[in-house]
Amino acid sequence: MLEMDERLKEKLKKIRLVIFDCDGVLTDGRIIYNDEGQETKVFDVRDGHGIKLMARAGIESAILTARESKTVEHRAANLGIELVFQSMKDKLAGLEEILKLRPFKLEEIAYMGDDIIDLPVLKRVGLAVTVADGVDEVKEMADYITSRPGGRGAVRELAELILKSQSKWDEILSRYLS
Ligand SMILES: [Mg+2]
Repeated sequence: MLEMDERLKEKLKKIRLVIFDCDGVLTDGRIIYNDEGQETKVFDVRDGHGIKLMARAGIESAILTARESKTVEHRAANLGIELVFQSMKDKLAGLEEILKLRPFKLEEIAYMGDDIIDLPVLKRVGLAVTVADGVDEVKEMADYITSRPGGRGAVRELAELILKSQSKWDEILSRYLS
């Protein structure tokens, strides 16, 4: 944090909406199939708490994924995420859909993705973020690479980074320390 450059700090301060890719970001990218062919994904509780803490501070979250899964619906409902866009192979089209519902400026939007399919959106938004285990092409253009991998704390790391940059973290923490 101490060595974070001013340009990144300024970008973080403006964020009002964070869009998350699902596989490889909210999860570690692995999909478990049962004998019936149904998919299961594993989410991180601390990541989820980070999303809730941002919501309390007025920063909304969205999910934008190329795949389709009931699991994602359940997870979004559990976290109170209203903006859920699945089967979006064209992620830029997904971003347009989100902008129709929430007309934020692009500089007020962060996107977190881990693969080349995420590049078009990462290039458009104000803050491009990827995970420690993201692909090289994404890492090369990201404003910030989390130290934690996808599905294992990367989302929480970004949530705390945004909240700290916007001077909202201490107030959140004080509720738990009193
Ligand atoms: Mg992904």
